[in-house]
This record gives sequence, structure tokens and C-alpha cells, in this order.
Amino acid sequence: MRDTHLHKGLRQQLVRELKSKGVNDERILKAFAEIPRHYFLDKAFAEWAYKDVAFPIDADQTISQPLTVAVQTHLLQIEKGDKILEIGTGSGFQACVLLHMGAKVYTIERQKKLFESTHLLLTEIGYGSVRTLFGDGYAGAPRFAPFDKIIITAGAPFIPQALVDQLRPGGILVIPLGEGETQQMIRLTKREDGTLKQENFGHFRFVPFLKGTQ
Ligand code: SAH
Repeated sequence: MRDTHLHKGLRQQLVRELKSKGVNDERILKAFAEIPRHYFLDKAFAEWAYKDVAFPIDADQTISQPLTVAVQTHLLQIEKGDKILEIGTGSGFQACVLLHMGAKVYTIERQKKLFESTHLLLTEIGYGSVRTLFGDGYAGAPRFAPFDKIIITAGAPFIPQALVDQLRPGGILVIPLGEGETQQMIRLTKREDGTLKQENFGHFRFVPFLKGTQ
């Protein structure tokens, strides 16, 4: 895989576009400037990697739109050393953004084929320290809980209690909620007494959060 001056230039352009759309977190912009997003798409579609659109990857899934990745990442309020659980590995790009920002990342994918190809890719491109797990994200990853932050990158019909349980007190969970065409971006903050604060950040579009593995 090659990362050329052309790719770097396209990344700078994408960063400018994200800035113009309101992304102002320097650490997120730096991740977008440095991570070769074209590695996460089929080679034939490399030119699409730096446009602000969602794009199909293997197994009928999508790599989230850059702006959506930036928004979800921002809502997580990442601090260096945060232990994060991502549900929906997909291409692996979101996981790499979190790793790039200094987090310790666990990510779960329900599709075996996609899990395997993304695991391989992350190792090849130097992001092998992302811990990839195969399984049903509805169950979370109790073996590695509690987490400081949890991010769901598929449209969820409801907030799975198992994920709330695996969040530490003071932790943050970001989830696109809703079964229809679009979802509401919800941020839950778990208070020290276990109660939840809920905030809504508007409409986004995701592939569905499905039960079981395949
Ligand atoms: N974060 C990804 C976006 C992937 S799209 C990226 O940066 O590219 C959502 C992903 O969630 C898909 O790969 C889909 O297979 C996966 N998914 C859906 N339901 C799931 C579940 N129950 N457990 C784990 N992954 C799931």
C-alpha cells in the first residue's frame, strides 16, 4: 500500500472541509490529516477516500462519513489512555482515529469475514494494537470491562443494558438511536450514582445494529 503526496494533499483538503463544517478539535483534525483513509477502502475506490461521504466496503457495510466519525469522536471527549469499546469495527477507520488520539481501543464486529479482513489490514498498516474482537456487540466485551467510553457505530433500536453496565461511573456512551432511515445521535453520561444524563445531537444515518453474528 502506498501513501503518496497526492493522498496527503487530498487529506489536507478533507481536513479543510471538516473545519468548514464546524470540526475544530485539533486532535481529531490531526488524525484525519495523518491516517491514510484510502487504505480502508477497496483500491479501486481510493479517490473516494477523501470525500466527505459514507462509502460501501465489504459485506454490505459502510465506512462512516468522515464528518460522522469526527462528530462521534468529539462527543466521546477522548483523553489519552482512555479505554474504549467500539461496536461495529467495519473498515477499522474509526478505531484508528481513537488509537491515534492516544486511546486504548477494543472493537467488536459481528461479521466474521469483515472481522478477519479488517484485523489483517490493521496489522499490516501499523495499527495492530487495536484489539479486534469477533462477536455480537449487544453483549459488549464483559471480559475487558469496565470502559471509560463506548461508541456504537451502527443504528440501534434501543440502548443495550449490557453496554451501560460495562461503562464505568463517569463514563460516556455515544449511540445513534432509531430504527428508521435516520438515527438520533445520543450521548449518555453515567453519573457516579449510576443514573444517566442523556443529550441529543441530531440526525445521522447508519447501517443497522443487528443481533447475533454471521
Ligand atoms: N466504525 C466503522 C463503521 C462501520 S458500519 C468504520 O469506521 O468503518 C457498522 C458496522 O457495525 C458494520 O460493519 C456492521 O457489520 C457492524 N455491526 C452491526 N451490528 C453489530 C453487532 N451486533 N455487533 C458488532 N458489530 C455490528
